[in-house]
Amino acid sequence: MPRPAESNRQLNLFDARRAPRAANVSSARELADTLSDLLAERVRLTVHDNRSTMVSFRRNPDEIHYRVHHMFLEAPNEVVTALAAFAGPRRGAAARRREAGTRIDAFVKRNRARIAMPRADRLLARGRVHDLQEIYDRLNGEQFGGEIEARIGWGPARPGKRRRTVKTGVYVQDARIIRIHPTLDRPQVPEFYVAAVVFHEMLHQAVPAREVNGRRIVHGAEFRRRERAYPDHGRARAWEHRNLALLLSSPV
Ligand SMILES: [Zn+2]
Repeated sequence: MPRPAESNRQLNLFDARRAPRAANVSSARELADTLSDLLAERVRLTVHDNRSTMVSFRRNPDEIHYRVHHMFLEAPNEVVTALAAFAGPRRGAAARRREAGTRIDAFVKRNRARIAMPRADRLLARGRVHDLQEIYDRLNGEQFGGEIEARIGWGPARPGKRRRTVKTGVYVQDARIIRIHPTLDRPQVPEFYVAAVVFHEMLHQAVPAREVNGRRIVHGAEFRRRERAYPDHGRARAWEHRNLALLLSSPV
């Protein structure tokens, strides 16, 4: 199939504060060209970084306008074909469109980690009571020989919600980001407990998750051994057991 002329595509790349990388521009160009080839129509492609709608398209009089999340810049051929089928001719194509939709959904599911990835610049380390950066820096020196490279901040507060469980912290491996639950940011929560939670998340970088027989081992034997060796581990555990109700209540 011949490459479409330059005029057969138009690109709008999400302009995050950092400029789109050259690699992104060329893969966006390629994606737009392929879609234009497959549909034999002019394609306008908007690549975004939203968290809600991953793919949508609109048929304008002289072009098809796709809006896709940037994860699709690395989509395999079958998914690109599905994107085309999704917006393809309506008549007699219901089954094909359904199948395309299923394929796209599966791809989005496999790449969900990228959607949830928080922007580093939204991370605030200084809370009302506890300063996570200070705790992180101290632990990095005392426990990890300064080797941990991550950014740390409080997770988003959802005031007024009573919880049944609480995930005190999370480590996003690819982005090297640690987020701590804001329920810990109050005067009744001692710093040694916050530090133990931060230590746990930092340890995820020191002892990374690994695949064994297709299973992802996150808290393996080595991880647990080093966690138990942390001086305040027992004290933090005991405090957590006694204060679960406090952690589950809303801090605001
Ligand atoms: Zn963990």
